[in-house]
Amino acid sequence: MRFEELSRYLLRLESTSKRLEMFDILSDAFSKADKKDIAKTVYLMQEELMPPFFNVQLGIADRMVEKAIADAYGVDLETVKSSNKKLGDLGEVAEKYGKGAEKSRLTVSEVYDRIFKLSQMSGEGSVETKINSLSDLLKECSQLEAKYIIRFVMGKLRLGVGEATIMEALSKAKTNDRRFKAELERAFNLCSDLGYVAEVFYDKGEGGIKKFQIEVMRPIRPALAERLGSAEEIIDKLGRCAIDQKFDGFRSQVHKNGDEVKVFSRNLEDITHFMPEIVSAVRKLKHEKLIFDSEALTYDEDTNTLYPFQITIQRKRKHGIAEISESYPLRLFVFDLMLIDDESLMNKPYKERRARIDEIFKDGETISKSKIIITDDPKELTKFFEETIGSGLEGVVAKKLDGIYSAGARNFNWIKIKRSYKSQLNDTIDIVILGYFKGRGMRADFGIGAVLGGVYNKAKDTFETITKVGSGFSEEQFKILRKMLDQIKVPHKPARVDSIMIPDVWVDPKYVITVKADEITRSPTHTCDMKNGVGYALRFPRAVMFIRGDKSAADANTSKEIVEMFNNQKKVELR
Ligand code: ATP
Repeated sequence: MRFEELSRYLLRLESTSKRLEMFDILSDAFSKADKKDIAKTVYLMQEELMPPFFNVQLGIADRMVEKAIADAYGVDLETVKSSNKKLGDLGEVAEKYGKGAEKSRLTVSEVYDRIFKLSQMSGEGSVETKINSLSDLLKECSQLEAKYIIRFVMGKLRLGVGEATIMEALSKAKTNDRRFKAELERAFNLCSDLGYVAEVFYDKGEGGIKKFQIEVMRPIRPALAERLGSAEEIIDKLGRCAIDQKFDGFRSQVHKNGDEVKVFSRNLEDITHFMPEIVSAVRKLKHEKLIFDSEALTYDEDTNTLYPFQITIQRKRKHGIAEISESYPLRLFVFDLMLIDDESLMNKPYKERRARIDEIFKDGETISKSKIIITDDPKELTKFFEETIGSGLEGVVAKKLDGIYSAGARNFNWIKIKRSYKSQLNDTIDIVILGYFKGRGMRADFGIGAVLGGVYNKAKDTFETITKVGSGFSEEQFKILRKMLDQIKVPHKPARVDSIMIPDVWVDPKYVITVKADEITRSPTHTCDMKNGVGYALRFPRAVMFIRGDKSAADANTSKEIVEMFNNQKKVELR
C-alpha cells in the first residue's frame, strides 16, 4: 500500500469520534495491505515502531524535527518555530510548509523502514544524520504524508485505536467476518505482538493462527487475578484449591534460551538490565529453554526478611545497578511455569505446572519459589493468609487446581485476597485519566484542579468515567500532571471514551493513577457499566499513587470489576 493512501485513512480516523466508524475505516485500510506491509501498518496504527519489549525508541526531540522541516522546505528555522508555537503541532507545520511531491510514490514499508533506521542511529553525529534523513524523507512526501510522518515520529498521532478494535478489523478485512477476532486475540495473548500476529494471519491464514504457540523471547501477556471478599467465597468457587503467597515486588516473566536471558515486566517492558544477578542465576538453570512467571523482591540475607516495596522500586534506575545489586540483591519467587524446552505447559492444569516448578527450582539464594498449601477449608485458608501477611507479604492468591495459564485474562483461575481487603472498600482502584478540569482558587495557578478518571470496558473496548479526583495530589504533582497531560491533550472527546461529564481539556487515555475511595455508589453522572441511565461512581476518591509506569490504559480496573467490587463491599470481612 502507498503511504499516501494510508495517510488518507489516518485523516479519516482522526476526524471520527465514533468507535464503529473507526472499525470500518480500519478494516478498509487493512484490506488494502498485503503480507509484506501488514505488520508495519498495524504498528503505525498502534502508534509504535515495535511493541514495547523490543525497547526501540525514536529519540527525536522537537528541535530536531523543527530543523528537519526547515531544511526540507527551505524555510527559516525561526519561522518554523513560531508556527509551531501558534499551531502547537509540528505535523500541521510540516503540512503547511510542505510542497511538491504530490505524486509521492512512497510505500508504507518504505516509510516505516526509513523511520526505523532513524531509531537505530546513535552515537556521535547521529543528531545531524537523523535530521538529514528526516528532511530527505519529507522532501519525497506529499503534505498529508508529511503531517502524519511528523506526528508519528514525535509519538503524537493520537488516533486512540485500541488493540481489540484492530483485531476485530483484521478479522473483518481477511475473513469478511468479525468472529475470527477471538482466535487473533488468543495468538496475541501468547506473543504480545499484534504486528507479528497480523503477519502470520496474512501469511498462513486462519490455520496458521489456530496453531499459534508460545515462543521463547516473545512475552506472554500475563495471567491476572480476580478478587473475592472472603475465604468462604473462594472455597465455594474453587473447591479444593492451592493457596499461594502473594508478593509485592516486580512481576518478572523470565525467558531463557541457552545463555540468553530476558525478563519482562507486568507491562511487558524488557527489564533485563535491572537484574544482573537474576540473569546470571537463570543462566545456570539446566534446561535449555524456560519461560516462567515470578515476582522479584529485595531480600535481606542477614535477617531473612523482605524489604518493603519502596526499596525494590529503587532498582528501576539507569545507573548504579551493579552497586545496588550488591547492597540490595533481588530474589526471585517463582509461581508459574509456561515452557520447558519445547514443551508448552500453557494448557496443563495448575497442579501439574506447580509439580514441574518443584522439580526444576530448588530454594536457592537468588531463585526461590512461592510456598503453597492445598486446602478446601476456609479456616485453613484464613490461617495461611494471616501467617502470610504476618510475615510482611501482601496477601495470597488462590489457584484453581485444574486451571490453565490464562494468558492476558483476568478470571477465577486465580483469586487474590490482599491485606487491605478487611474493611469495606479498602482495595485501591486504578483509573485512567481521560481529561482534566482547570482549578479554582489556589489551584487556578496550576491550571488544573481535578482529573476525570475512567475504567476500561473490555467488552466494548471503551473507557467509561467513574470519578473526578482532585485530592491526594501534592502541589508539585499537580504541576507535573498538568505538563504531562498537556502533551497528550486532544481537541475533542476521544472516540473510545464514553462520558457524560465534559472536562475542560480532553486527553488521550494513557496515564493510570491509583486511587482510594470510601465506597462505590450508583450514579447517574458516570458511565461506568451504565444501564438505564445509572452507572457507578467512587465516593470521596483520593489519589494514593501518582502515574503508574507499570500500567497502561487498558490495565486500569474494568467496569466489570467495579461492579464486582460494588457487590462485594457489603460482605463480611476476612477473619
Ligand atoms: P495488584 O496491584 O494487586 O498486584 P495487578 O492488577 O497488578 O494487581 P492482579 O492480576 O490483579 O495484578 O494480581 C496478581 C498480581 O500479583 C500479579 O500481577 C503478580 O505480579 C502478583 N503476584 C505476586 N505473587 C503472586 C503469585 N504467587 N501468583 C500470582 N500472582 C502473584
